[in-house]
Amino acid sequence: MTWDARQTAMLRAMGLRVWSPPQKPPQREDGIAEVEPDARPLPVEAPRRAAPAVSVVEALPTSLRQPPAAPVAAHAPVSQDERQQAIARMDWDELRQSVAGCRACGLCESRKNTVFGVGNTRANWMIVGEAPGENEDLQGEPFVGQAGKLLDNMLRALKLGRGEGPPEQQVYIANTLKCRPPRNRNPEPDELAKCEPYLDRQIALIQPKVILAMGRFAVQSLLRSSEPIGRLRGRVHRYQGVPLVVTYHPAYLLRNLPDKAKAWEDLCLALEAMTASVEAAPTTA
Ligand code: URA
Repeated sequence: MTWDARQTAMLRAMGLRVWSPPQKPPQREDGIAEVEPDARPLPVEAPRRAAPAVSVVEALPTSLRQPPAAPVAAHAPVSQDERQQAIARMDWDELRQSVAGCRACGLCESRKNTVFGVGNTRANWMIVGEAPGENEDLQGEPFVGQAGKLLDNMLRALKLGRGEGPPEQQVYIANTLKCRPPRNRNPEPDELAKCEPYLDRQIALIQPKVILAMGRFAVQSLLRSSEPIGRLRGRVHRYQGVPLVVTYHPAYLLRNLPDKAKAWEDLCLALEAMTASVEAAPTTA
């Protein structure tokens, strides 16, 4: 089955390439094929992945939702903007499912599990790390390895936890990337860009009173800054109106023990920012 003219126009208007079966070129009398440049079939865009988070079919109005026989068109990803807008409307269940099935970048090929996030979705604290490591990939939960143990100890010192309890004592922990980069290499810009809408949506759903951005990649994603952590820590930034404190990544602290004291100062600053943010929030009584 092929797309009709109306469907084709809609897909083109959405910026999507439309696959059409190759036409037999008209033959000249001398037997040489005659092809007008504009009449050439568009290149076939093979599905890069088996199941994109948002397919063309999902993005179409229901009246046009007739899955085409050609697998190419059925699985062609929508543009990054449309994907971002779709993610920005998701509730928790949809977001979880979308992350679990995400094939937006190459990391889906090597991951064992996606690592969505953990903690209380009504927490006042949102902690943002970099990307899952080996243990996190195996268990599907962020910060469960050595760096996670250090993080938990630091949180415990402030009476904060990942479980149930009053929002001001609870954290939600998520990473900029939901899949492990092979051999724990640094995230690549394209991977960060593809994963960013998930973190943005998590933050929008949680509406934390403070965000603690741990390490270079969390800072790059949330503050769009490539300045070193040492220059950004020690003051309160803002991410979409939410106070944000920058600190060292726990994996860095494991190798640079003297900087633990600075990380502790950062946590205390975040606590002050969280308290001020709660006090400034309008009461709903
Ligand atoms: N480092 C991170 O940034 N995130 C994890 O989940 C684990 C280690």
